[in-house]
Amino acid sequence: MEIPKLFQDVIEKNADGCWRAKNLINGKWLYPESEGEFSVLSPVDGSIVARLPKAALREVASAIASADMARPQVREIAAIDRIALFSRVRKLLDENLEFFKYLLLWEAGKPEHEALGEIEATKERLRMTLQEAKKISGEYLPGDWAHDTIGKIAIVMHEPVGIVAAITSFNYPLYIPSAKIVPALLAGNTVVVKPASAVPLTLLCFVRLIEEAGFPKGSVNVVTGSAQVGDAMVSDPRVHLVSFTGSTEVGQHLAKTAGLKKLHLELGGKGVAIVLDDCDIELAAKKCVEGSLKNAGQRCDAISSILVVEKVADELVRQMQTEIAQWTSGDPREKKTKVGPLISEAAAERVLGLIEDARKKGAKLLAGGKRKGAYVEPTLLDAIPVDARIASEETFGPVVSVIRVRDEEEALAIASRPQYGLDSCVFTNNYYRMWHLAKSLEVGGVTINDLPRHGVGYFPFGGIRNSGIGREGIGYSIEEMTQHKTIIFNLEPAGLGKKHIGHK
Ligand code: NAD
Repeated sequence: MEIPKLFQDVIEKNADGCWRAKNLINGKWLYPESEGEFSVLSPVDGSIVARLPKAALREVASAIASADMARPQVREIAAIDRIALFSRVRKLLDENLEFFKYLLLWEAGKPEHEALGEIEATKERLRMTLQEAKKISGEYLPGDWAHDTIGKIAIVMHEPVGIVAAITSFNYPLYIPSAKIVPALLAGNTVVVKPASAVPLTLLCFVRLIEEAGFPKGSVNVVTGSAQVGDAMVSDPRVHLVSFTGSTEVGQHLAKTAGLKKLHLELGGKGVAIVLDDCDIELAAKKCVEGSLKNAGQRCDAISSILVVEKVADELVRQMQTEIAQWTSGDPREKKTKVGPLISEAAAERVLGLIEDARKKGAKLLAGGKRKGAYVEPTLLDAIPVDARIASEETFGPVVSVIRVRDEEEALAIASRPQYGLDSCVFTNNYYRMWHLAKSLEVGGVTINDLPRHGVGYFPFGGIRNSGIGREGIGYSIEEMTQHKTIIFNLEPAGLGKKHIGHK
């Protein structure tokens, strides 16, 4: 595909036909070559999609300095103007939909319906920014409810935190960065962002839309490269908030590196579906397969283990076997494909390792189980023993994993073994059992009779335990990106405050 004119500052074509994408620092698109470069390989066919620079520490420092300089200007943009700017970003995204679909296909391996779903969710989120923006208000507190504040009033303001360092994962290359950059700017912050090295182009082009819409130079800066880039961003004392989406291991490392900064961490998960004997089995089978295979299983909120009570296990597995056959896998360019490749051959090899380990420990392979390059067949594993790695490690691949349990108490015990606590779901038609399980599961979110899905983020989401800190969602993300300041007015000198009348 030809690079549309709007993105020719971001990506250029080399003499050899290969794309070269740049970094954005202080309003300039640059290709710093000091630390060398890296290639983005397409999971579709292993071809090189583009080459990008590995930013050096001094370039990261310049990006942060630029975000620092832009702070007063961004903070002072009137809320109605911010809304207008984001409406323009939305329009630009719509106008360039084909190009974004192309990027999501080639760098992330997304079939058309997945790519469109992600773009639509991002557009919808931009539409809802109006609602988000109104959350940036505050509180008026009369002081006469306490002895020591009588005669005073206070206003609690929600202010921008300052500079947001955003580091994002590979699995939703458009939606996840936008879910950080949009609320950050809406709340009056500036941003330095590092995309996942497997999928940097989508993010760079999204930032180009923000620039084109009219946000001041330095509002958003993008640096690409290795873990060193992320570490330099997070440890810089000028950064106020670290907003990270990625694995638990890297999140833990960043929490140590950041020091005393506000942290918003969206980390790994091991979502379970608990399927009880009174549920609608047809619904459970359909949703469990979708929850396991959507986005080739590369979702933090994926159903990673299905804990089904013995009484209905055979029937659930039988129906899931039929359902899984509808999930055609293969080349994402083909219309019929529902499951495309994983992000890389290495990721596919890891998933194969989990499948093999489960088989060796006694699980039954009922479908799939093979890999070709980055492609893993939709796989169904039944009767997985709890000591198999796949029973406690995040799968992040297209595997429907069944663990058979006696009852809901055993399901709860198994669900709480991994140290994750992101999403889970329960299939039952008994509301006492729903309530008991929803209350007992130690997770950030429980969905009843559906797969967990974050959608546009209208409902808040986020993890506890090793799955993270903070909540994303319309309004909730804004809250994460602001801090409270209390301004106290002493009205006593002018005799305007309320007075004691004394007590009998
Ligand atoms: P990852 O942790 O490997 O990488 C995430 C980002 O961190 C990338 O940009 C990467 O370059 C950067 N990074 C890696 N090592 C670093 C270091 N030492 N210092 C600084 N930065 C570093 O994760 P991934 O493979 O891109 O994404 C998959 C993971 O993300 C899964 O665990 C998934 O559950 C999680 N995830 C969570 C959510 C959520 O909302 N909770 C959403 C999507 C993905």
